[in-house]
Amino acid sequence: MSKPKVAFFDFACCEGCQLQVANMGESLLDVLGAIDVVEFREVMSEKWDQDFDVAIVEGSITTPHAIEKIKKIRERCKVLIAYGSCATIGGVNGMKNNFPLDKIREEVYGKDYKYFETVETRAVPQVVKVDYLVHGCPVYIPEFVNVLKAVLAGLPYQVPDHAVCVECKLNENVCVYEKGVTCLGPVTKAGCNSWCINNGNICYGCRGMVTNPNENGAKDVIEKYNVPMNLVRNKMNMYNQCREIDQSEQKKR
Ligand code: SF4
Ligand code: SF4
Ligand code: SF4
Repeated sequence: MSKPKVAFFDFACCEGCQLQVANMGESLLDVLGAIDVVEFREVMSEKWDQDFDVAIVEGSITTPHAIEKIKKIRERCKVLIAYGSCATIGGVNGMKNNFPLDKIREEVYGKDYKYFETVETRAVPQVVKVDYLVHGCPVYIPEFVNVLKAVLAGLPYQVPDHAVCVECKLNENVCVYEKGVTCLGPVTKAGCNSWCINNGNICYGCRGMVTNPNENGAKDVIEKYNVPMNLVRNKMNMYNQCREIDQSEQKKR
């Protein structure tokens, strides 16, 4: 039986998520044994001009050209995986949506800015139907491997929809609020095994908000630790400026 043909594509992003794949080490070898990578700009120069089974798409959609390109990719693949927060929720590129587009263009391109077209930042699921989401900035490789296994087995993958705090508690971390630091773990989707907190940092909300955040619980924490609301809002703005479209909404596409 032939292996599924897999192609990687990138749009507006830092390519850090693709780098995570390139740095996967032994687990990459396991995955490579099961798939046939036909296009991956970061690690190979070949281009594939036929259809493929799986498209792994990194980056946000920020130009009219990108809209056309992602639609063509969707037509050419059977399964599309949005990969990394830039693709799944807009990520840091969504901060652009806080400013008038012309002002952004002028800031970036100077006086000739009108030659460079741009549109409001959109996550990939806001433009085409997506079959699997791998959140994270960058992606958490153990989760990516699980998603790939689900794809290969033809099974769905359900993104965890509980808070990062659950994983953080299981990892027995001391809550950073106890040290007077704000953290978005209470309202952010789990699935990264509380990666940042385990390594002495805070959660910046890179996996997007849980569907039903415990607003009362979050309010209690904010009040208990006397956290200024604008600090929480600013932190939320970093990754969460594009509304995420859930899978049920996508079925209408
Ligand atoms: S999600 Fe983060 S690491 Fe991945 S491409 Fe976007 S900015 Fe880079
Ligand atoms: S608020 Fe942050 S540090 Fe505290 S338990 Fe939740 S994820 Fe962990
Ligand atoms: S801890 Fe928060 S910021 Fe860090 S990877 Fe997980 S969701 Fe993203």
